Amino acid sequence: MSKMGAYVLDQQIEEYESYHNYMGRRMREADRYEYDRDQKWHNRFMDMALLIADWSKDPSSKIGAVAVNDERRILATGYNGFPKGIEDTPERLANRPEKHQLVIHAEMNALMNALYSGVSLKGATMYVYGLPICPDCAKCVIQAGVKHVVIPTDKTDKGEWQKVWEEKSLPMFKESGVKVTVLGM
Ligand SMILES: [Zn+2]
Repeated sequence: MSKMGAYVLDQQIEEYESYHNYMGRRMREADRYEYDRDQKWHNRFMDMALLIADWSKDPSSKIGAVAVNDERRILATGYNGFPKGIEDTPERLANRPEKHQLVIHAEMNALMNALYSGVSLKGATMYVYGLPICPDCAKCVIQAGVKHVVIPTDKTDKGEWQKVWEEKSLPMFKESGVKVTVLGM
């Protein structure tokens, strides 16, 4: 190998390495961009779930759910409340056993609203604000074909909800292959 040849080879290696580094950096930047973009949309839909939660007349807990497709179009929304035509009087809302019998949870209401409109939630992402998802809603969310649930936090000071989330809902989501994202808000 001539001296010039060795020099060219060294330069090629150097160029190859810098190209490699360049591509690595570009890939990290692309990942970062995708991460930031996903995070931005997660925050937007979670803000919307929070807004919808506030429509609930339940004085003790206000929960909101927003289901979107993979193009980030809104498919259905729901908040916790009584069925259509069932009057949510202060007396009924104050009577816990009666309230629990009548109330439809936000997640379930989003599923029912999708059904009412003839919209499939197959492959959808559901944002839920307020409380971790209860096992009754979790199994229906799974069965409706929702593939991803996003919650702001998986911690609540309501001990019973915390327990059933950790012991029932979360394991069900994991076993059925539904992705769970906790935003850590
Ligand atoms: Zn529920």
